[in-house]
Amino acid sequence: MADPRGFLKHTHRETPQRRPVDLRLRDWNEVYEEFSHETLQNQAARCMDCGIPFCHNGCPLGNLIPEWNDLVFRDRWRDSIERLHATNNFPEFTGRLCPAPCEASCVLGINQDPVTIKQVEVEIIDNAFAEGWVVPLPPDRLTGKKVAVVGSGPAGLAAAQQLTRAGHDVTVFERADRIGGLLRYGIPEFKMEKRHIDRRLEQMAAEGTKFRTGVNVGVDVTVEQLRGDHDAVVLAGGATDWRDLPIPGRELTGVYQAMEFLPWANRVQMGDPVVGEDGEPPITAKDKKVVIIGGGDTGADCLGTSHRQGAASVHQFEIMPRPPETRAESTPWPTYPLMYRVSSAHEEGGERVFSVNTEEFVGRDGQVTALKVHEVEMREGKFVKVEDSDFELEADLVLLAMGFVGPEKTGLLENLSVELTDRGNVKRNDDFQTSVPGVFVAGDMGRGQSLIVWAIAEGRAAAAGADKYLMGQSALPAPIRPTAAPQR
Ligand SMILES: Cc1cc2nc3c(=O)[nH]c(=O)nc-3n(C[C@H](O)[C@H](O)[C@H](O)COP(=O)(O)OP(=O)(O)OC[C@H]3O[C@@H](n4cnc5c(N)ncnc54)[C@H](O)[C@@H]3O)c2cc1C
Ligand code: SF4
Repeated sequence: MADPRGFLKHTHRETPQRRPVDLRLRDWNEVYEEFSHETLQNQAARCMDCGIPFCHNGCPLGNLIPEWNDLVFRDRWRDSIERLHATNNFPEFTGRLCPAPCEASCVLGINQDPVTIKQVEVEIIDNAFAEGWVVPLPPDRLTGKKVAVVGSGPAGLAAAQQLTRAGHDVTVFERADRIGGLLRYGIPEFKMEKRHIDRRLEQMAAEGTKFRTGVNVGVDVTVEQLRGDHDAVVLAGGATDWRDLPIPGRELTGVYQAMEFLPWANRVQMGDPVVGEDGEPPITAKDKKVVIIGGGDTGADCLGTSHRQGAASVHQFEIMPRPPETRAESTPWPTYPLMYRVSSAHEEGGERVFSVNTEEFVGRDGQVTALKVHEVEMREGKFVKVEDSDFELEADLVLLAMGFVGPEKTGLLENLSVELTDRGNVKRNDDFQTSVPGVFVAGDMGRGQSLIVWAIAEGRAAAAGADKYLMGQSALPAPIRPTAAPQR
C-alpha cells in the first residue's frame, strides 16, 4: 500500500491545470500543462489499496490500479509501466481520453474526491516513453498462422498487437489513408496529439505487425480473398453509420455530420494540403455562426474545433435536460454518474442550450441560414413540445453530433453474411467469434458506439479468442466476455 495515511494527509485531489483559454485557442496542442512527479506521487499516495478495489471492476481493462499507484509512490516507475502494460496495450490513449469509470467507482470517492487514477496512468506511460522503456516485444517463436485485422482503431490495434506477440503473422487492413480509426480522424489534436499514435505504430511495426492502408475490405479486397489468404479474421470496423436528422431543410448546404467536419481539422494538423477555397478546408467554421446538434463528447469536439478555426459564434443544442451538478440519485456510487460536466472545449466559450428540439433547417439559395427550434419537456418517458416556446436561431454551419446507429452493413458485413444482433451490431459469442467460424469481432462493430477503453479490452479478448481458435488453446488474457460486460 502506497501510504497508509496518504488519503488523510492529501485530502485534496489535484489534476493538471489547463493552459489559459486565449493561449490554447491559438494552437491545436493538448490543453493540459505539465504535472510534477512529486504532486503525482502525493496523489498516488491517496490510494487506500482497498481489500476489494472497486476501481478494478470500474475499468473495463481490469487495470491493476492500486498496484501501479503503489509503485509510482515508491518511485518504481519502470515496474509501474510493466504492471500497466500487463492489462492495457495503449495507456497513452486511455490516460488522455478515457472518461475514467474507474474514478467513478473509487472507494475514496464515497466521501472524498476520488484518486486521480487516469492522471497516474498517463504519467506512467509518458515517463516510460521518455525513458526509452517502451521497446518492441517481438514474439520468440512464429506459428505460421496468418491473421487479418479489418479496421485500425483502438480495437483493431489492440487485437493486432496481442496476436503478433503471440507469434501470428498479422496484417491490419484500413480503408482510410492513415492508421488509427477515430483516434486519428475523429478525436481532435487538442484532446490527443497524433504523435502518440505514430510512436505506438512504430513499436507495432518493429514487432512485426503489417499495415495496409487505402484498402476497403469487401470492395478492394473481396471477403473470399481475405478468408482464403488468412487463417483467421478479426473485424474491427467500428460503428461508423451515423444518426441523421431527417427534418425539412436537411438537404441544405451547410448542414453536415460531425464526422464530415472533424477529419478536415485533423488533416490540416497533419500537414495535408487543404483543397477548399482561400486555403481553408472544404468545411470550416471560420467566421461562421455554428450550431452543433448533440450535447455529448463528439459535440464538444466540434465546439473546440470551431473555436480554433475562428467561428463567429457557437451554440451546442441538447434535447435532454441539463444534468444535475452532482451525482444524480439514479446513478449511485460505484456506477458512472450522470452529472453536469464541463470539458475543456466548454470552458473555451459557446453557449450550451438544453431541452431543445430542432424541427426545421431554414435556408436561402440552397444554403442554411437558420434553425427553427422549440423547447421540450419529458412527460411519461416522451419528449413533448413546450407550447409557445418556438424560436429561430441564425446559423450558417450546422453540425450533427447525434451519435452512431451501428456498423455499416453493406460490403464487408453483407458479403461475410455474419449474423447481427437486434440492435444491428455484429453478434459474437464469449470468445468474440461471430456466427462465421474463424471470424471474430471487437470494438464498436460488435458492441455499438462505445469507448476507447472498451475497444482495447475487446481487442485483447478477441485476440485471445482467435489465438485459441488457431492453436487450440491460448495464454493471451481475455479481460471481458460479452455476456458478462454491460453495454455502454
Ligand atoms: C468525434 C469522436 C470523439 C470521441 N472521443 C472519445 C473520447 O474522448 N474517449 C473515448 O473513450 N471514446 C471516444 N469516442 C469513441 C471512440 O473513439 C470509439 O469508441 C473507438 O474509437 C472505437 O474503436 P474501434 O476500433 O472499434 O473503431 P474505430 O475507431 O471507429 O475504427 C474503425 C476503423 O475501421 C475502418 N474500417 C471500417 N470498415 C472497413 C473496411 N471494410 N475495410 C477497411 N477498414 C475499415 C474505419 O475506417 C476505421 O478506421 C469518440 C468518438 C467520436 C466519433
Ligand atoms: S483505462 Fe480508463 S477506466 Fe481504466 S484505469 Fe485508465 S482511466 Fe480508469
